[in-house]
Amino acid sequence: MRSCGGCRKKEEKEEFIRFVEFEGELLPDLSFKLPGRGYNVCPSYKCIKEFTKKRFKGKVDGEELYKKTVSLLKDYFLHLLSLAHKTGITVIGQDQIRELKDKEGTLVIAEDLSPKTAERLKRGGWLTIEGIFSSEEIGNSLRRERRVGALFIEKVGLGRKVYKVGEKLVKLLKSREET
Ligand SMILES: [Zn+2]
Repeated sequence: MRSCGGCRKKEEKEEFIRFVEFEGELLPDLSFKLPGRGYNVCPSYKCIKEFTKKRFKGKVDGEELYKKTVSLLKDYFLHLLSLAHKTGITVIGQDQIRELKDKEGTLVIAEDLSPKTAERLKRGGWLTIEGIFSSEEIGNSLRRERRVGALFIEKVGLGRKVYKVGEKLVKLLKSREET
């Protein structure tokens, strides 16, 4: 168990965002691979701000760090989508997604998909990522020429990582709205 550098809550390492002091800069280490002194922080706007205040006494701007973390987490999520797609655990298209049976996973809905269509695709038990990526961004991550309005990633193999990272992204964005 580790504890959050902001609120002190104890959790497993995977539940946190790891930050690293790397070459004099504080960076989110999303793949848990960077060397250097590391800190664990909840995927929360409040905890990131609290953490920078406590540890870096105004030398690091919490607002900036939050924005940087969101932006890097988005890129990382798209990167994982492209890798997951290559392993054959993705399902593209509304009809194909509606036909899925007994599968756990992550549903990515493009921000430009109609709300009515989006509602028809959602299911209890799935993690839904919506209002974050455009159909062009999703399509690009899959190296597709066309736009992709809806994508499902099964929660197996790399799909577990997609789920975990997606969950953090949703939490991080939601925590900002709540303040
Ligand atoms: Zn916390």
